[in-house]
Amino acid sequence: MPEDLNCPICERNASRTALSGTARLDNLEVDCSFLSQIQCPLCGVFVLNRRDEVNLRSPRLRYWNPHHVSALLREQCIADLPPFWLRDHEEQYAPVRIDAATIITLRELLTHWPQTVPERLDRCLCNLARELKRGGRMKVFPQGPEQRGIADTSALFAEDPAEAHYHIHALKRQGYVEEQLANGVGVTLSPEGWARVAELIAGTASRANPAFVAMWFGGECEIQAMQGLYDAGIKPGIEDAGYKALRIDLVEHNEYIMDEVLGNIRRAPFVVADFTQHRNGVYFEAGFARGLGIPVIHTCREDCFGKAHFDTQQLNHIVWKTPDELQHRLCNRILGTIGVGPNPPARTSMPSRPS
Ligand SMILES: [Zn+2]
Repeated sequence: MPEDLNCPICERNASRTALSGTARLDNLEVDCSFLSQIQCPLCGVFVLNRRDEVNLRSPRLRYWNPHHVSALLREQCIADLPPFWLRDHEEQYAPVRIDAATIITLRELLTHWPQTVPERLDRCLCNLARELKRGGRMKVFPQGPEQRGIADTSALFAEDPAEAHYHIHALKRQGYVEEQLANGVGVTLSPEGWARVAELIAGTASRANPAFVAMWFGGECEIQAMQGLYDAGIKPGIEDAGYKALRIDLVEHNEYIMDEVLGNIRRAPFVVADFTQHRNGVYFEAGFARGLGIPVIHTCREDCFGKAHFDTQQLNHIVWKTPDELQHRLCNRILGTIGVGPNPPARTSMPSRPS
């Protein structure tokens, strides 16, 4: 039975149900009922444990902006991605993954916040398009308490009803949305709006930018094998299709490595995510790219595939046995789903059929 509560993020009336499913703690499957799924009209659906909920409600620990967190949780729901399990901080003995949600810490989540007004407008437009799904439909936003304001601030990346109204007004001035008569603010996307969304979803990234590779580095035991996978499988597979490849430990970086990772993903024409050994970072980077609408090609070594995360197992993986095999199949997949890149190699035996 759902139980009523105030949302720990935005304090609106929300409801809570115990989560079912399992979590994986090292090699143990554990029951997920210690987790609550919260459903909030503003933040959408997300997952919390009780202790993190107490911390989130503590005014002393509120270093974060609730409007930002709310909008980012909501965006994940509008994009139809598995809800976030929001963690207050990294915990050493926490489950490495759970079936029903994507684990993310508050700090990681906040790195997704669009810093500039144009970025916020783009993300509003993508939210609108995902909710409308096709042309000719109208979304009605009930008026907020302020005279010219919209109450659903989170879907519009706004901190108050006036800013939400401003975002709609700005998108209208840019020609991306049209306002319709409605009891509230009725909005449809214009043809220019749909074209802009297609552009954003295909990635504003130039095809000349490197494709981003998310993979495990091998720790102490498999570092050579994973380097071999990159050098003999993934990198040549990407280059054979005419693109450059980038793996973040191979470029110079500073301590803000996460910013650098996210920045490179944003600029990438596509991401190759290898799930061999199931590292949380790979799930996170792939999820981040998918959230931005950047195409992600999933690969996994055969012996690890049975353990793949529930909701990514359904995404058509390339399951490989040798780096050599991966090189050819990856190249085929890129050519078949993304198209030939700007630097096709001068070789004659290009693979021709998408796998
Ligand atoms: Zn909320």
